[in-house]
Amino acid sequence: MINRLKLLSTLFDHLVNSDTSAGRCVTCLHPSAFNGLCAPCRSDLPRNRLHCDICALPLAFSGPVRRCGECLTQPPAFTRSLIPWRYQFPVDSMIGRYKYNGQRKFARPLLSDFSDYLEHTLSDGERPELLIPAPMHWRRRWQRGFNQSQDIAEYLGRRLEIPVNSQAVQRKRQVRAQRGLNRAARLTNLNKVFEVCQAIPERVAIVDDVVTTGATTRALAGALTKAGAREIQIWALARTPG
Ligand SMILES: [Zn+2]
Ligand SMILES: [Zn+2]
Repeated sequence: MINRLKLLSTLFDHLVNSDTSAGRCVTCLHPSAFNGLCAPCRSDLPRNRLHCDICALPLAFSGPVRRCGECLTQPPAFTRSLIPWRYQFPVDSMIGRYKYNGQRKFARPLLSDFSDYLEHTLSDGERPELLIPAPMHWRRRWQRGFNQSQDIAEYLGRRLEIPVNSQAVQRKRQVRAQRGLNRAARLTNLNKVFEVCQAIPERVAIVDDVVTTGATTRALAGALTKAGAREIQIWALARTPG
């Protein structure tokens, strides 16, 4: 079964990457696609409609104050997260193929729609002065061949005409995977991981592909606040449920 699935997946990759797939939907291969997705697949993308206004954590119900428990008790250093999708099928597999296999065409529809979403959502006064990709440790970058956060930031920077600085913050050491650690262990794990090494403006956006626990963005925003940022937004493609 696994082998058959693998074969199907390889066949699918081959079809998506072949020249004849130009203009096809990356998730169902339908021939009439716009920016890599057909209309039904685009409307089926898992939108993150109901979420915490600060960290974009998906919420199960709506209330007068849309804040998750963590943002209510311990507000982070950032003010707002713009994250249009939930990390569910097919967004998770599209991001996975882009990030781990370097297949950029799976990210193209998400990047294009994300850029339109930002364009419509942000007023002139809310536009960041600088985009800062979530830094990756050099060893991981070397293993993967590229930093997807930097790639996303550069695309958005070009589309929205906002400068990108991927040298402003360095990730000083590798950390253990955040998943499975409790809150205290996550914060210790990330303590002093980020070093801001250049002057940054007051209004910035941190750009990442997926926000999982939120501990990384909290630590990064904390370091940027210490370096003088006053209004920090988080921009990411997708948010996991917790
Ligand atoms: Zn489709
Ligand atoms: Zn929150």
